[in-house]
Amino acid sequence: MTARRLLVATGLRDVLPDVPGLAEHWGHRVVHCPYCHGWEVRDEPIGILATSPASIHHALVFRQLTDDLIYFTRSTELDPDGRARFAARNIRIIDTPVQEVVNSEDGAIAGVRLTDGTRVARRVLAVITEMQARTEGLDGLKPPMEDLPYNMGRRFASGMAGTTDVPGVWVAGNATDLTAQVGASAAAGALAGSHINALLATADTDAALAAAEGGPATA
Ligand SMILES: Cc1cc2nc3c(=O)[nH]c(=O)nc-3n(C[C@H](O)[C@H](O)[C@H](O)COP(=O)(O)OP(=O)(O)OC[C@H]3O[C@@H](n4cnc5c(N)ncnc54)[C@H](O)[C@@H]3O)c2cc1C
Repeated sequence: MTARRLLVATGLRDVLPDVPGLAEHWGHRVVHCPYCHGWEVRDEPIGILATSPASIHHALVFRQLTDDLIYFTRSTELDPDGRARFAARNIRIIDTPVQEVVNSEDGAIAGVRLTDGTRVARRVLAVITEMQARTEGLDGLKPPMEDLPYNMGRRFASGMAGTTDVPGVWVAGNATDLTAQVGASAAAGALAGSHINALLATADTDAALAAAEGGPATA
């Protein structure tokens, strides 16, 4: 297939922390986004599996959804100020590492088992994933990419309306804006599309003018 312009909208891949039993519950009882899943998990016993200091803020947001929140530090940093803030919000802190997710008889989450053998009951686990823009098939373009802080992920770098440093290539949605939801992703696609169309209209007119004047046509 050939095209005069390309809009990359390949989305992203969520990479979960390597905790046995976690992945099978992804999108159901293992959640990342309070604005996507918040209503469904409200008032449940929720556990935050910390992946970086960014998980501290994640916990404060999920605290809006439940009074029963436990923060599993998983060797991430939580300084005295963070601990005081959690205490003020009745967020329990567990520093013992998490060994695995424990299922209930109906296949849902019953809790987690810690490395000291303790089982901690939870119905929902919230985790910040590492978000990796999907790049399959695009290596030949060599589109510039950039890493987010705290190992949060890797995205296509883009400018106004999704432009990239590669001539003729635009990018929209999660591939470049890792935290965009459906509305923002669709809006970015529409904006990039109109930008591309506007430039094609100009290119077509330039080509028509060149043809009319007997010069070489370009697209
Ligand atoms: C579990 C979960 C729940 C969510 N819930 C919500 C919610 O309730 N509300 C909300 O607004 N957002 C929600 N989101 C976020 C939402 O899914 C994304 O913001 C949105 O889908 C991003 O749209 P996109 O078009 O950028 O990417 P995507 O929707 O991921 O679409 C990218 C598409 O490109 C395809 N693709 C990838 N690589 C290639 C390739 N090389 N060639 C061809 N095709 C390719 C993929 O298969 C995919 O179909 C949720 C996300 C997750 C993971």
